[in-house]
Amino acid sequence: MSKDRTFTIQLDEDLCKGSDCYICVNACPKGVFAEGERITPKGLRPSQVKDPDECIGCEICEFLCPDLGITVEEVGGTERVITSTPKGGATAPASGGWTTVQSSLDPGTHYMIGDEACAEGAIAAGCRFYAGYPITPASEIMVHMAKRLVQTDGVFIQMEDEIGSMAAVIGASWAGIKSMTATAGPGFSLMTENVGYACMTETPCVVVDVQRAGPSTGQASRPASGDVMQAKWGTHGGVEIIALAPWSVQEMYDLTIKAFNLAERFRVPVILLADAVTGHLRESFQVEETMELFDRIKVPGAPPFGSDDESGVPSMPSFGEGEELLITGSTHDRYGVRKTADPVVHERLVKRISKKIIAHMEEITDYELYFEDGAQRVVVAYGSTARSALWAVKAARERGERVGMLRLKSLWPFPGELIRDWGRRCEEFIVPETNLGQISQVVQQHTANPVSLVSQTNGEIMDPRRVRDFLMGRKSH
Ligand code: SF4
Ligand code: SF4
Repeated sequence: MSKDRTFTIQLDEDLCKGSDCYICVNACPKGVFAEGERITPKGLRPSQVKDPDECIGCEICEFLCPDLGITVEEVGGTERVITSTPKGGATAPASGGWTTVQSSLDPGTHYMIGDEACAEGAIAAGCRFYAGYPITPASEIMVHMAKRLVQTDGVFIQMEDEIGSMAAVIGASWAGIKSMTATAGPGFSLMTENVGYACMTETPCVVVDVQRAGPSTGQASRPASGDVMQAKWGTHGGVEIIALAPWSVQEMYDLTIKAFNLAERFRVPVILLADAVTGHLRESFQVEETMELFDRIKVPGAPPFGSDDESGVPSMPSFGEGEELLITGSTHDRYGVRKTADPVVHERLVKRISKKIIAHMEEITDYELYFEDGAQRVVVAYGSTARSALWAVKAARERGERVGMLRLKSLWPFPGELIRDWGRRCEEFIVPETNLGQISQVVQQHTANPVSLVSQTNGEIMDPRRVRDFLMGRKSH
């Protein structure tokens, strides 16, 4: 610390609780702060910056203020580099990236429910921490993880609620461990605040939402796809998110592995949007002998929250590796230092954490096409509803209808270019959904062609006859 440099101290009176606190007044080694003299309309007496010229930039006040009300910045200073040397002076080699590993399950055919296959996918992907709270129809994931983590030297915690579960997952990820939670319905609502924290702190983790019929507690054991928009927009602030939608037990396994790879690759929370059908369905699935896994990139000393590439993914150190780490959901610079009043830093950060997803759409987007030859009408389906939709498309094809199907395995970021492309080749889109029309609206945003919704919201799996009859121009069931 030096008095050769000059610092500005911003004290946000709206955040300060004043005489209930005065931590800054007591903690500042240079007596910069003083008890307040003015009473605000809220009846509080915020502290005041009395002697800013005395400030030596130690940042004690900034770190100790419980309400994040103080920002200290050097006048004319550049970004502060917190550290670039791991403990002991040794420079650890860079690590991370793609590796080929043996599958944790025996290769071959396995027979489980989707929730169990999801848990096995997590174990296969290297997940060694699970924090959660039981909730139908996701509880079987938690039960299976409790059993499997004991066998794999992992850690399982049943938390007090879903808010704590998500927070614990974020903490474990910063400790360097691949982490996951699973929930449904109201539990997903509780998690969304911390999903936003994971977005802002660029914390890789996987959140499984086994969707059930809502709103609210709704029908706990019944399927629906009502959380699609919540996955995209549930957290405040508006950033891009990655969400995948499995339609089978096979994909509960495969897409859970993919979710971990994407989370690590892009340092984001990835949401697996399953549902009560894919979670509780029991069917066989195949496990290959080896698999490709991505581990987060670590470059010792590199800034953990910034990259020269504006769509880039920064290196991610872990606690315990000797680097000083500042992690905050508030706006921060490349080293995690809070910059809550800096418009340039804020804009750069918000754009980058979205751009790192959008710029890699091709790598993330996953879909399958069925009966595409000569298709004039295209059914766009996802999740368990796609099972019913495919039966209906086959039935319509057998009767001479020129219908095809696009099954979305990744929902967010939405593959708008794919819809635009198909819109030039077909005449109409049909979107069956077990909600009041969420993805159908997004499809319409990307095409001038007519888009028809086939909606079912009775807590049952989509009736395939409802889709078939719509395709055949008959009255639906
Ligand atoms: S530490 Fe923060 S909340 Fe407490 S008096 Fe100082 S500015 Fe106000
Ligand atoms: S940075 Fe240090 S010296 Fe400056 S006001 Fe805060 S506590 Fe006091």
